[in-house]
Amino acid sequence: MSELLIYLDGKFVPKSEAKVSVYDHGFLYGDGVFEGIRAYNGRVFKLKEHVDRLYDSAKAIAMDIPLTKEEMSEAILETLRKNNLKDAYIRPVVSRGVGDLGLDPRNCGKPCVVVIAQGWGAMYGDLYEVGLKAVSVCVRRNAPDSISPNIKSLNYLNNILAKIEANEKGGDEAIFLDHNGFVCEGSGDNIFVVKNNKVLTPYTISNLKGVTRATAIELLDEMGYKVIEANLGLFDLYTADEVFVTGTAAEAAPITRLDGRVIGTGKPGPMTMKMVEAFEKITQSTGAPIYK
Ligand code: PMP
Repeated sequence: MSELLIYLDGKFVPKSEAKVSVYDHGFLYGDGVFEGIRAYNGRVFKLKEHVDRLYDSAKAIAMDIPLTKEEMSEAILETLRKNNLKDAYIRPVVSRGVGDLGLDPRNCGKPCVVVIAQGWGAMYGDLYEVGLKAVSVCVRRNAPDSISPNIKSLNYLNNILAKIEANEKGGDEAIFLDHNGFVCEGSGDNIFVVKNNKVLTPYTISNLKGVTRATAIELLDEMGYKVIEANLGLFDLYTADEVFVTGTAAEAAPITRLDGRVIGTGKPGPMTMKMVEAFEKITQSTGAPIYK
């Protein structure tokens, strides 16, 4: 198998040669932004929405990406073409660039732009059929007045701490609460709760404005279910009929256990399954074509 080609600052280089300086502030300080995007069946799902969010994240950290959105989109498509990929996970990364050992981003040169694309299967494997075991974690989601969870920044330590805690507690996914005790999101996905045929989801002030979350809201709307944004506590999750998470990597995945409680019947529920089906249909048939 030939080596993957990585887009690195305007050039395509083999994976083994795709290197970034140890003085890059993405490495030194987590100073930068990224995206996670999927391609299905030769089409990139919600490319515009992901590129828009990448630029919004960059704007929020006062960083100018040295490409237009069109150039970035083309770099993503070209990375897939160069690697003959039709189904893939795509990781664009923009770091502040090479600076000195001080924090000041004014001492950094141009931001560094990387696009990695590789084949990728179902993130949770067989668990889509039985559901995930989730655990709520002690570490709180970073507050919107620190590094806003709306920014998809290279500083994912908060999420990594949640993942470590979930691993320790034997969970497949972590559920974050905010400082007021409201449920926010998973370590890498958004949360939906179904109760008495109503679908609820937390507001997005303390979580990432998920592209899959927005898609799920649209799909549920088309099915006749208006999703209600609400402040939710763990009680609402423990006593829900169904809980599911959404994300680019996770897609739509049921949660059937939380903190030792069985959610609903303990099996992926009907609303969750409808979502999974609708999501599969839309990802296979829509999006920016990779090959013209
Ligand atoms: N929350 C967090 C913290 C994430 O990392 C992700 C994955 N990008 C999501 C939610 C889901 O967002 P999306 O549907 O855009 O992938």
